[in-house]
Amino acid sequence: MELRESVRKFMTPRELARIADRILETKKFWDYPGARNGLQISHGRPVKKIGWAVDGDLESIRKAGKAGVDFLVVHHGIFWGDSGLDRKLRARRIREAKRLGVAIYSSHLPLDAHPELGNSIGLLRALGLGDARRKPFGVAMGRAIGWKLDGGRWKRSELVRRCEGLRGKKVRRWEGVKVIPAGPAICRKIGVVTGGFGDLDQVVKAGLDTLVTGEVDYPTEVKARELGINLILAGHRETETFGVQALAEKLKSVVGGRGSEVRGQRTALLRC
Ligand SMILES: [Zn+2]
Repeated sequence: MELRESVRKFMTPRELARIADRILETKKFWDYPGARNGLQISHGRPVKKIGWAVDGDLESIRKAGKAGVDFLVVHHGIFWGDSGLDRKLRARRIREAKRLGVAIYSSHLPLDAHPELGNSIGLLRALGLGDARRKPFGVAMGRAIGWKLDGGRWKRSELVRRCEGLRGKKVRRWEGVKVIPAGPAICRKIGVVTGGFGDLDQVVKAGLDTLVTGEVDYPTEVKARELGINLILAGHRETETFGVQALAEKLKSVVGGRGSEVRGQRTALLRC
C-alpha cells in the first residue's frame, strides 16, 4: 500500500475532480441546467497549482493562467445561458482555458449547501453567526442550500455593518450592501442564503423577519417592503467567495497529503 502511494507522484484534473465530487456529494444534487457541476475543462497533465474564483469568466481564466494555476475551482461555471452570445462567450472561455492549460472545476448548489465548506455556512461564520442555533433553510432544486437562525436577537444595523466587512481588500468592483429595512430593527428570525435567493414564499412560510442574501430582483424588493421583511443584500459575489476558497484549500490539503512529490503545490487565492 505504502509503495503504491509513494510511486504515485501526481494527480490529473480528472482524479482531483473525482475527489471534489465525493467531498461535495455532487451526485446527490439536482441543479440548474447551466450549472453542470463537475470538471468542465480538463487537461492530461498533473495538477501543480490550485486556484479559485467565483466566476469562470474570461478574466478569471486569464488571471489563473497568468498565476500558473492549472486547476481552477469556480462556483459559476462556463455553461450558463444558451443564447448565441452565450455560446460565443463560452467558446472563447474554452479556447483561452485550453490555451493557458487551466482545468476548470465548477460546483454550484453542492458548494452552496455543504455544511462545512459551503458558501452559506461560510457566510454565517464571516458574519459571526457560526455558533448560533441553526436549521437548514432556502430550498433550491429540492434541497436546502442555506440556514435559518431562530432564538437570538441581532441588531439589523450590526448585521449590515458585518456584511460591509465582507468586501475583500483587493476587490475593485463592489456596489456595497443594499438594505431594504422593512422589518424590525431587532432581528429574531434570520434566513441566510448566498447568491441570488429571492424566494419570499419560503421566507414567509418560515416566519422569518430578515433575509440576508447576495441580491434579489426589483419586484422582490417591492414585495419585501409590503410584507415587512428586512432584506440585507450583501452582493452576489461577496457572499459566494467562501465555498470556492474552502474547497480549493481542502483539495490542496488532499493532494499535499499524498507526499513530498506534491510539496511544491500551493493554492493561489485569486480575487477576480
Ligand atoms: Zn451564485
